Amino acid sequence: MTAEGQIDGDRIAELIEAARSAMVAHAEELTALDSAIGDADHGLNMKRGFEALAADAGAISAKPLGEALKAAGMKLVMTVGGASGPLFGTFLMTLGKEIDANSFAGAFAKAVDSVAARGKSERGQKTMLDVLYPLSEALAGGKSPRELADVAAAAAEATVPLKATRGRASFLGDRSIGHMDPGSRSCVILTGVVADWAEGRA
Ligand code: ADP
Ligand code: MG
Repeated sequence: MTAEGQIDGDRIAELIEAARSAMVAHAEELTALDSAIGDADHGLNMKRGFEALAADAGAISAKPLGEALKAAGMKLVMTVGGASGPLFGTFLMTLGKEIDANSFAGAFAKAVDSVAARGKSERGQKTMLDVLYPLSEALAGGKSPRELADVAAAAAEATVPLKATRGRASFLGDRSIGHMDPGSRSCVILTGVVADWAEGRA
């Protein structure tokens, strides 16, 4: 942290690099999940977006935290593609907009609500919201970064028996049952990245 309570640009750049590296490492796994109940592009979408983000890490990490989050969100909207790009992008843009005026948990809750509004979706439809809402509640409950990673993993696991009623997987109806939601799995991976980073392991 700097004297103004901001996070150092170097630390922001480290987080972006850790997220890029995780998305590259998990691209095939995410695409395999999306091939079961979607169109097999989620890993590629996320990898492309986070590579673009990393290519801009210098400019983004030079900004104050709120502005950096907004810029990162815009980058993801422009580069991830698919349904998930605008949703992850909206999440980061709202977080950036709200972070200075709220607690982190408060800003996170508003960011999750903005995803639901953008996706016209709600909890229980087998989407990333099924991880984001439990994460938001755990944050409000003061959980540690490691506990948050466990909450996210359990929440993604809990999408397996759900029937998708939103997003591309909903086209499969009952055949969407028995598979983990790919966007939920991405949220788990990114939560792990942030937890490692927050605890100084990235
Ligand atoms: P697409 O479905 O357009 O191919 P991706 O494969 O990149 O896009 O992302 C799919 C993921 O996006 C899903 O696994 C789900 O978590 C999330 N998703 C899709 N539609 C919605 C929605 N309306 N609200 C919330 N999340 C959604
Ligand atoms: Mg897809």
